[in-house]
Amino acid sequence: MKQLAILGSTGSIGVSTLEIVAAHPDKFRIISLTGAKNLELLAHQIRQFRPKLAAVADPAEIPALKKLLTGVDVELAAGEEGLCAAATASGVQMVVAAIVGSAGLLPTAAAIRAGIDIALANKETLVTAGHIFMDLVENYGVRLYPVDSEHSAVFQSIEGHRCQDITRIILTASGGPFRETPIDRLKEVTVQDALNHPNWNMGRKITIDSATMMNKGLEVIEARWLFDAPPDKISVNIHPQSIIHSMVEYIDGCVIAQLGTPDMKAPIAYALSYPERVSSGVKPLDLTTLSDLSFFKPDMQRFPCLGLAYRALGEGESMPAVMNAANEVAVDAFLSGRITYLQIASLIEKTMDAHQVHRLGSIEEALEADRWGRSTAGEICKTLKTGRFI
Ligand code: NAD
Ligand code: MG
Repeated sequence: MKQLAILGSTGSIGVSTLEIVAAHPDKFRIISLTGAKNLELLAHQIRQFRPKLAAVADPAEIPALKKLLTGVDVELAAGEEGLCAAATASGVQMVVAAIVGSAGLLPTAAAIRAGIDIALANKETLVTAGHIFMDLVENYGVRLYPVDSEHSAVFQSIEGHRCQDITRIILTASGGPFRETPIDRLKEVTVQDALNHPNWNMGRKITIDSATMMNKGLEVIEARWLFDAPPDKISVNIHPQSIIHSMVEYIDGCVIAQLGTPDMKAPIAYALSYPERVSSGVKPLDLTTLSDLSFFKPDMQRFPCLGLAYRALGEGESMPAVMNAANEVAVDAFLSGRITYLQIASLIEKTMDAHQVHRLGSIEEALEADRWGRSTAGEICKTLKTGRFI
């Protein structure tokens, strides 16, 4: 029986994780859950999974949550302290880090320092403070299992092989809803168009990141740290069918790929049950019904965010944190109609241009770079001339 803490249990990854837990009551038990805004769902999850502890991001939400939990025996906590308490609650053996954005960093770090293994969905952790987190993982002797489908695919494709035999990690990307939209039409696309992902059903922020391909840029940075891979050995292929989730190429010319129906429950289940496998509820793949598996090089003019991510990785240290923060500000501004789709990339680039790269020695310094990126992007955002397209 593996005892779990789910950070961000009310989100897309959190809900899928709980579906797997519900299907395997003999294998997994929930010790703690956390959420932010969706109190009804959190209360429902608490009633169903009976954790010892539940935490919300904002202490002001506690009275409303208590009201929804009349008669339920659960300890409630809030704020950064509460999220860290949930991550390190007594008995937790694995934390599923599924909070979105940089809010996920400190609770994940607290779990590592408590010697708890991590199933990592929150890619911003490694983007913002990759080398610091990987040092923590090594120093505290914990295991970090990727949940992101591409990294799970790479993880599965390198098992049993020697690192020195790898020549390339090939991350696949669907190309999102604008893969074939004429470039001059991109200035008109709406939030609804951008949220209309062809293959994956995900949270709003990551869905916009998939449309701009910043998601793939963040994943290149994530792969750099997870697999200790130099940036020039990580490439991206557009694969619109999202059947091959990523590949690893070896010195003998062989390429090993992992395939499956695009459903996050498969990589989540593998992270939860490694080295075993459990049923995940994902529809098996019927290769005979697939008429085509195609691959393209990404068009860097169409997807400038991907180039910005490689640039941030090249400049290193504080730059990826600043880029990630600027992206969060830009996506939020786009989702709320304050900037246009094309302004997402230009806002990130302007913020990066304004940043002087400096060394990052701690998570606190990474969070400081994150705050700098957020406030600078916020200021630059106000100066952008916008048209509203919702
Ligand atoms: P989501 O928006 O659906 O859910 C986010 C969760 O984080 C919710 O439980 C929310 O309550 C919580 N949260 C939000 N802001 C918070 C804050 N300030 N403090 C504490 N909690 C907060 O997001 P998601 O799509 O489930 O993604 C979660 C993470 O997993 C992201 O980092 C994303 O990049 C990564 N990821 C998601 C997918 C996917 O398919 N959804 C795939 C790969 C990686
Ligand atoms: Mg992914």
